[in-house]
Formats: sequence, C-alpha cells, structure tokens
Amino acid sequence: MWPFHPELLARAVPRYTSYPTAAEFGASVGGADQLAALRSLPHGTFVSLYVHIPFCRDICWYCGCNTNRANRTDRIVAYLEAVEAEINWLASHLSGRVSLSRISFGGGSPNALDPLSFVRLVSQIVTAFQASTPEISVELDPRTLDAEWAGLLGKIGATRASLGVQTLDAEIQARIGRVQPLEMIRSSVDLLRKSGVTSLNFDLMYGLPGQSEAILMDTLEGALQLAPDRIALFGYAHVPHLIPRQRRIEASELPGLEQRFQQAALGHERLVSAGLQPIGFDHFAQPSDPIAVAAREGRLRRNFQGFTDDQAPALLGIGATAISATPDLIVQNEKNTGRYRMRVLGGQPAAELGVRRSADDQERGLVIEDLLCGRSADLSGLPEDGDCELRLKPFLEAGLCQLENDRLTILPGGLPYSRAIAACFDSYRAQGAGRFSSAV
Ligand code: SF4
Repeated sequence: MWPFHPELLARAVPRYTSYPTAAEFGASVGGADQLAALRSLPHGTFVSLYVHIPFCRDICWYCGCNTNRANRTDRIVAYLEAVEAEINWLASHLSGRVSLSRISFGGGSPNALDPLSFVRLVSQIVTAFQASTPEISVELDPRTLDAEWAGLLGKIGATRASLGVQTLDAEIQARIGRVQPLEMIRSSVDLLRKSGVTSLNFDLMYGLPGQSEAILMDTLEGALQLAPDRIALFGYAHVPHLIPRQRRIEASELPGLEQRFQQAALGHERLVSAGLQPIGFDHFAQPSDPIAVAAREGRLRRNFQGFTDDQAPALLGIGATAISATPDLIVQNEKNTGRYRMRVLGGQPAAELGVRRSADDQERGLVIEDLLCGRSADLSGLPEDGDCELRLKPFLEAGLCQLENDRLTILPGGLPYSRAIAACFDSYRAQGAGRFSSAV
C-alpha cells in the first residue's frame, strides 16, 4: 500500500495536460500567432485533430466540461455550420502540407448529434484535409448510444471509443445526476464491439458522494467483467466555486482526503491484480492495447486528452474551447459558442487566448511530461532553481522519489504524488493554486 503523507497532497495542483497550463493563457496570444505557427509547420508534419462537440442530452452535475443541453436543434445546426467554417479555414492554410493522422471527437458528447450530422462532419474533415486513413476515436455517452450510432462508427472506421461510466452504483448515480443502469453499459459495449471498436476505454471515478471502498470495488468488478481495453480511474474534483453545476452535489457526503487516497490505492491494486498495466498515474490498460505498448516502449505522451500514444507534433483543436498546440505555442478557441460562431463565420481565427512556450517552458514541460508518463526525468537541461529544490526536498526525504546524477525517479510509493512532484518544476505555481484540485 502507498504511504500516506497528507501534507504533501495538501497543495492543489494542475493535471498537466499541457505546460504551461491553461491558467497561464492570456489575451496577448491568439489567432494571429496561431496562423503564423500553422504556416511555419514543416511540409509533411503529422497533425492530430480534436473536434469539440459542446452538447449532451443531459448534463451531469459533476461535469467540468464546456457543454450544454442538446435540446435545441437550431443551436446545434448553427454550431456545426461554424465548425465547418473553421475546418475550411484551417485546411486552407494547411491542406497538402500536413498529414492528418488522427481525429478525436470529444465534448460534451459527440453522440448527442444526430448520426447524419456526425457522418457529414467526418466527411468534411476527411475531404478538407485529404486524409486517407486517419485513426478515429470518439467519446460517447451510453445514455444516447443506440444501434444506429454504433453502426455508423463502424462505417466511418472508428476503432477507439471512450464511455463515460463513472460508477455502477445506482444510488451514487442519482447523487451525481447521471443515471445509467448496468444493462445500458453492457449493451453499449456489445454494440461498440460489433461495430469494430478495438480499443474501448471506461472513465471511472473515486471520491464520489457516498462512495465507500466497498462500493468502488463493486464498480471495478462490474467494469472488469465487461472487459474494457482501458480504464481511467479519476478522483472527483469538487470545485463548485469554479463549476456552479457541482452545487447540486452534497459536499458533506464526499469522502475526505485519506478516504480518497485509500480508494485510489485500492483501485490501483485491484486493476493491476486483474492484469491491467498501469499507465501514467491514473490509467490502466490491457498489455496488448496500443497505449500499454507505447508506455513500455517509452512513447507515452500527455496532451489535452490525457495520456496518449499519439506522437503527432501538432494538435489542432476545432470548436468552442478547443485547444491547439505546436512545440512553441498553445492557443485556445473562444469558449462561448455564440461568440465562437461569430468569429469563424466572420473569417477570423477561432483562437482568442494562448501562451508562447519559451525554451524554459519547453524544457520544464518535457520534465513534467516525462515524470507523469514514465516516472523518471533527466533534469540536466534545467537551470539552477533553488525554489524547485526546496519544493522537491520533502518528497525526496519521504522516500517518494530519488535523485541520482540529475535523473529524478518517482519510486513506486510515490505514484499518487506524481502531480505534486511534477508541480515542483512548474515555475508558474510558486504562488497559490486556487483553481486546481487535490493531487489525489
Ligand atoms: S455526458 Fe460527459 S460531457 Fe456530458 S455532462 Fe455528462 S460528464 Fe459532462
């Protein structure tokens, strides 16, 4: 079992899906910078595309995503018109010069769209980017997944899917505003397997209201019986001051830090004992899944979608809130769907915020990514940094990591402290971290 050091988990830290994190994005960087970065991508660069669909049939109370109820067809049609305009804008600056290797649809719930609109969207992208056989992955809500939708995933060649499962406990489902019986999940899995999905992920959560270790274990057993290829086991982050919809969740029913820690530990132990390979600090995969192979071969990466085997050096985000990244620039699209639409239909770039990645950012970002993906990083490229050494000291003294010849390694007991250890190298986190969540 992992050693529990509450004082080392007390500081709220980012999830580091990028470095610098979104907290550092500012209005001085935006569309013009994105355009320059796109134009400077070398010929033949592999790019991955992420398309944000900000609609869901029902809104779950815990959800921190930028999404809205899919109850007005006119809003969805207007949004997709804007997305098409952005696709064409990007393609006009890139087509023929880059190679589109992967398309990911997330949100929100892409399957809140009607199947015909979704197929049309995929075909617009494939045509605009002259993509031959991109790998396609889709985040799905089991509550709106039917045979027609699963069938079209087969037709467009989607091989990767992620289901929002969270918990199989009916009472907790009611407490978080997401009711989906086990039979619904089972039927979704059957439909997706028949449609040709070979890498299926379940998102699960610990730290939910009223969740005990026994309830979490029941969910893990039920999930394992459905044999997903991957499981992401996240801790629920309760931040109602930032996400008002979370006010519907009863804070007094949430497990405390020590309970959360034990739940994460038990979950890790159970999933590893079931033969899954731990990936990063909160993912697990069948050893034959591409992400597990990538982790063993040192090719695991971390981007805005979490841990990934995607090696593309440029990520293009399409849609409201979507984030794009190249080695020296990160930009985020306008978050409000109405203003996003006005921008792109007016011929402007959708990006409105961002940050340039300095050489120091890139070096620190690499250390953080290596620590989170492979639990080890070479520090020799970093400048002398007394603050960083001070922040790292208690983790070294507690035996959670070790430093030898400029190589920092997170030891097995240090795994749940990975984000906190990585945060020692974050030069922007020296003061305060009010908008982030607990490291476990
Ligand atoms: S289905 Fe997913 S994206 Fe939609 S509200 Fe629920 S958690 Fe959020």
